[in-house]
Amino acid sequence: MLAPRCHPIQSMIEQAIRNSVRRAYQYRCGYCGVHEDEAGTLLKIDHFRPRSAGGDSELENLVYCCPTCNRRKGDFWPVAEQVTTQRLWHPHRDHLDEHFFEHLDGRLIALTETSAFYIERLQLNRPPLITLRRTRREVALMRNGLKLAQEEQTRLRQRVETLSQALDEVLEQLAHLSISSLQPGETSGKT
Ligand SMILES: [Zn+2]
Repeated sequence: MLAPRCHPIQSMIEQAIRNSVRRAYQYRCGYCGVHEDEAGTLLKIDHFRPRSAGGDSELENLVYCCPTCNRRKGDFWPVAEQVTTQRLWHPHRDHLDEHFFEHLDGRLIALTETSAFYIERLQLNRPPLITLRRTRREVALMRNGLKLAQEEQTRLRQRVETLSQALDEVLEQLAHLSISSLQPGETSGKT
């Protein structure tokens, strides 16, 4: 018999689990990295090992996941003979940077046969994702350029301040010298 669908306690527990998964994945899809702000909506909760393949609903088996990756992944789970080449990387348990890298043009490049399968299965080189990666890279470059420019501006301001203080000191010394050199002249002019 099914539990009541909108039981308040059950709903609160589901919400708490959802928020835990969101925080664990920093509000991004665990597979493609899209942020929920970029998606314009809350993402879904994916069972890494599908329930149809014996997966449970423990936090470790739950992945925050955008609708497209969720649809592409579906209920896929490798059968025993596929495990070495046709499997999906777990966003937190596997070291993803050992399996593929991001090209300057925004595409993910597979380093292994399994990675090629993973990228193809989830369509991680779909055009909007490539555009998003390129845009992020450009924004990061601009931010870095802005940071360097701000650091240079701070350095120049400090330099100008130092020179200004030095100039004030020189002007003050000149003023003293002028007064000193004028005093004898004034005296001799009176005689
Ligand atoms: Zn995704």
